Amino acid sequence: MSKIFISNWKMNPQSFSEAEELLKSALKFKASNIKIVLCPPFVWLRDLILKSKNKIEFGAQNMFFEEKGAFTGEISYKMLKNIGVKYVILGHSERRNIFGEINEMISKKVFAAISNNLVPILCVGENLNIRKKGKKIFEKFVLSQLEFSLGKLIQNKIFNKEIIIAYEPVWAISGSGLGIADTPENAKNMISLIKNFLFKNGFKKFLVLYGGSLNSSNVLNFFSQKEIDGGLVGSASVNPDEFSKMIQILNKGLKNK
Ligand code: PEP
Repeated sequence: MSKIFISNWKMNPQSFSEAEELLKSALKFKASNIKIVLCPPFVWLRDLILKSKNKIEFGAQNMFFEEKGAFTGEISYKMLKNIGVKYVILGHSERRNIFGEINEMISKKVFAAISNNLVPILCVGENLNIRKKGKKIFEKFVLSQLEFSLGKLIQNKIFNKEIIIAYEPVWAISGSGLGIADTPENAKNMISLIKNFLFKNGFKKFLVLYGGSLNSSNVLNFFSQKEIDGGLVGSASVNPDEFSKMIQILNKGLKNK
């Protein structure tokens, strides 16, 4: 199965013409071995989807768990579905830390996404303080984030729908963290642990990705681990040259494996 490269544009770019440039770089690789998903800001989503003519898939960076109503500033799953979005990033550490999102809220979002046929990309990962406490502690922390964020799916026994988990150590993220990637070794171990948790709880269709400072010099080291199903890539993927370089390296490097 081909690996998945999810591009989180965060709050970039600032103009639609730059967004179109990024779309163009991605469309060059539509016949690639790597499955590419673009997650632009809400304001660019609909027009990019129309421009892409179904040649590439899109995700949103967040959503609210209610369908409609008095929720100023929010975007519902129904709105995303109606413009052709397929994926939605939920529980990103920047949302947890800057906007105070907690597991209980994220669990409602994951449930609402799945119930409306959007594929959630649920982010989990420890911060630096927890990481420093040692392996047993940070593993336990990530598993508890997972258990609570998937709580409503577990309670309602929804195990047959596609879900994606992104293991993203908070400190490894560029911009909001230290910008130093984790080791492929730790990412691989954490991903095996997460897969084991999902499997034991009854989940049947899942992919588990790594995210945190991936770029053209390290992306192949991560993607070539068999346990790692792909990556969630932020800053480096918003630079069209770096984006193209990463996809080229992956196409070439993974073919030779
Ligand atoms: C992210 O925001 O999900 C991410 C992985 O960012 P970066 O690649 O910039 O570290």
